[in-house]
Amino acid sequence: MDILKKLQSGVRLDYEDGLELYGLDLFTLGYFANQKRVAMWGKKVYFNINRHINPTNICKDICKFCAFSANRKSSNPYKYTKDEVLKIAEDACKRGIKEAHIVSAHNKEHDLYWYIDIFKEIKAKFPKLHIKALTAAEVHFLSTLHHLSYDEVLDKMIEAGVDSMPGGGAEIFDEKIRAYICKGKVNSENWLKIHELWHKKGRLSNATMLFGHVEGEKERIDHMLRLRKVQDKTGGFNAFIPLVYQRDNNYLKTDKFLGSGEILKTIAISRLMLDNIPHIKAYWASATLSLAMVAQEFGADDLDGTIEKEAIQSAGGAKSAFGQNLKDFLDIITTSGFIPVERDSLYNELRVYKESGCVVY
Ligand code: SF4
Repeated sequence: MDILKKLQSGVRLDYEDGLELYGLDLFTLGYFANQKRVAMWGKKVYFNINRHINPTNICKDICKFCAFSANRKSSNPYKYTKDEVLKIAEDACKRGIKEAHIVSAHNKEHDLYWYIDIFKEIKAKFPKLHIKALTAAEVHFLSTLHHLSYDEVLDKMIEAGVDSMPGGGAEIFDEKIRAYICKGKVNSENWLKIHELWHKKGRLSNATMLFGHVEGEKERIDHMLRLRKVQDKTGGFNAFIPLVYQRDNNYLKTDKFLGSGEILKTIAISRLMLDNIPHIKAYWASATLSLAMVAQEFGADDLDGTIEKEAIQSAGGAKSAFGQNLKDFLDIITTSGFIPVERDSLYNELRVYKESGCVVY
């Protein structure tokens, strides 16, 4: 069956199909991805009101693509104290955030027990605040640091009040590329294993893919299919987040410039390949808000959140350091012909806006 017939019939696409999709023109791809998105979510665009907190940028690893960690390119080491993290969370809660998204560099001074104390204190003060924390890369780092199994680290996270896991650290699963861009970090097999274990504990998580650096179409499709396989077993991934590689302030020398068409194609292909992951997020902090909005016509249904303060993408050149205010979010969604829907971290709908500022429920 040729690829257009497969798209029309809705059969599950395989690796070869994924590569063929890249050969289609952007608008054909967008048409099919959008059909799927509309069938699942109509014209809704999901977002949440969240605060990113990155307690330290001092890292034992040197991932070539990373501009966030303190190193020769970006020497600005910092580590927050527990009180500083708690104050950030407290102030953000007063402003009405629903989620604290806590991820960081791999710093042994911020060990598992340091995080556990913080999670417990945040939860004790703000029991309704959703804590999304510690990527699988951090779980691997902390399990190695403390000689604990992944299971033990995950159980301690749950006991301390972590509600869900973010999708960071996946980068690209292809072993050869991974060895080149982030050698010291959790390997692909273990990244997937940690999420699978987390899902088996009844918890949900997200999954990312960093693209636009030295990987190619083959590695992107391979990455999506490895996630799809785990999702078939567990159903625990809420959202797939293709992250656009930021070129500034890092050690990865690449002349490649990822054009908007390629970004949109990859988002559309992820919607078509990942038939078992409910949400595709166009992460505005890495793709820009305007392109993330266009991506809503190409398979994405989510923009992430207001974020308030963003340190990781902005260190690499993205214009995302100060988050987005809610009004701008609502305006861009409604003027683009979509319906803004504030969600919680697990995609329960909290508020549907008919037009900017007008709440339907
Ligand atoms: S991507 Fe994460 S693990 Fe890698 S150097 Fe940056 S902070 Fe460290």
